[in-house]
Amino acid sequence: MRDCKNGKVWLVGAGPGDAGLFTIKGKKVLDQADVVVYDKLVGQGVLGMIPDQAELIFVGKVSGNHAVPQHEINQILLREALKGKRVVRLKGGDPFVFGRGGEELELLCKNGIPFEIVPGITSAVSVPAYNGIPVTHRDFVSSLHIITGHTKKKEEAEIDYHSLVKLGGTFVFLMGISAMPKICQGLLEAGIEPDMPAAVLERGTSAHQRRVVSDVTNLTKDAEKAGIKTPAIIVVGKVCALEKEFHWAEDRPLGGLKIAITRPKDRDSSLADKLSMLGAEIMLMPAIETKEIKNNKPLEDAIHDIRRFDYIAFTSPVGVTAFFNKLREMKKDIRDLGSIRFAAIGTATRDAIEKMGILVDLMPAVYSGRALGELIAARSAELGSKIGRKPEILIPRARIGTDEVTTPLEEASIKFTDVAVYDTFEAESNEKAESGNSHGTLIEFASEEADYVAFTSASTVRGFAASCGLSNFSDVKAVCIGEKTAEEARKYGMEIHISKEATIDSIVECFLGL
Ligand code: SAH
Repeated sequence: MRDCKNGKVWLVGAGPGDAGLFTIKGKKVLDQADVVVYDKLVGQGVLGMIPDQAELIFVGKVSGNHAVPQHEINQILLREALKGKRVVRLKGGDPFVFGRGGEELELLCKNGIPFEIVPGITSAVSVPAYNGIPVTHRDFVSSLHIITGHTKKKEEAEIDYHSLVKLGGTFVFLMGISAMPKICQGLLEAGIEPDMPAAVLERGTSAHQRRVVSDVTNLTKDAEKAGIKTPAIIVVGKVCALEKEFHWAEDRPLGGLKIAITRPKDRDSSLADKLSMLGAEIMLMPAIETKEIKNNKPLEDAIHDIRRFDYIAFTSPVGVTAFFNKLREMKKDIRDLGSIRFAAIGTATRDAIEKMGILVDLMPAVYSGRALGELIAARSAELGSKIGRKPEILIPRARIGTDEVTTPLEEASIKFTDVAVYDTFEAESNEKAESGNSHGTLIEFASEEADYVAFTSASTVRGFAASCGLSNFSDVKAVCIGEKTAEEARKYGMEIHISKEATIDSIVECFLGL
């Protein structure tokens, strides 16, 4: 093998769109990619898994422009591998099922570039499955044929319809939408039963998948009437009729809904997981980013003298992580915290503290800064009379923290130290984002037809508004974690839905009730 300083190419199948159908191996390979070369069939959910450090090269068609020609893609893969990069070539479905994977390997082989193939779930079987069509069923067929409607040399493939009809079985045509009239006519002329069930399945496995189920004689007309567009596959065979009984994807509690999630990428993904398990398609659009404040003298001073505090109050999981990272950096651990009590604003923050091996002493019944402040004020007064001095509170939180928590403490003349432990950066418009490699450009909200946007803080609303590319927000349906977040969304004129409580589960409930 030629020495390319460990450069290597992985041809990775991204599956048909639903991010849950991306393989575990594909995800592992993607996690350590230096460069990702991808095209338009790769689903948004999988694109959202590309790590921030990876350089992105888009080789698909953007409106108006042509796709990068195949020989150029081959050259890009070679060039990047020769630079010593770990290159992931991410392709829709499976790389070897009409995915030109073979062509892309030829140049790599010629140049001795090491490579691996990570197969993906092909649309040819998964899209029918998501439409309730088992591509084989022992009662009806004994073979499955996957056929292209287009070939390399000719616009339309030359298909031997007579042999196909003679073989029987289920026929799946990829890239066949423009050739649909010819395909159906070819099959009919070759003697297929005119009422043979046939279906066309558009954007399969996504929230907005559509299907037209008909028969070979009427499929073209019916698909035209429905305005079916590519990407779509055509399935011909008796199994198509089973859809009536077996359809399921749209029937899930959140089936048919595409939801944009604006939380930071590195934040606990339980909201995305819960919504997608209920059938929603998730589009990750991180609208804020948080960064721990590194040279943080006020926090270091507080930790040096940590035992002077009676309570540590946290208002977010990020604050918890930042505090404990600093503690560790200063070569201290929970044993140095003695008998300090802990307060959390809500369940997610409580869970983050408990993960550190500390049980939380105080949590208000409602998630609000004010409720937390009031609760601490009340308890501090009790504690003060017990210990015979004024208790002191440490509040490690966001630099942009409001005075909701601190006002009740001030009102009760309770001593507190408010230290900023992280900064919050709201997303900017793509033009403003300085790096040309902004991952934000992967997802254009306007063109993605999300049905709802979930907001978990006022800053995510502002970050979304600045970066989503819209100038009018009246069509944006916002699901907000609480009144403060909703207040911000209202300013932009969005349609508002508010979860009853400020928890992830309550947001999920809110979606279920829409
Ligand atoms: N390698 C891919 C196929 C690439 S050819 C695979 O294994 O799935 C591109 C064709 O695949 C499209 O024209 C369409 O026919 C089909 N296709 C891919 N994804 C699809 C989807 N989500 N829904 C419907 N058809 C899809």
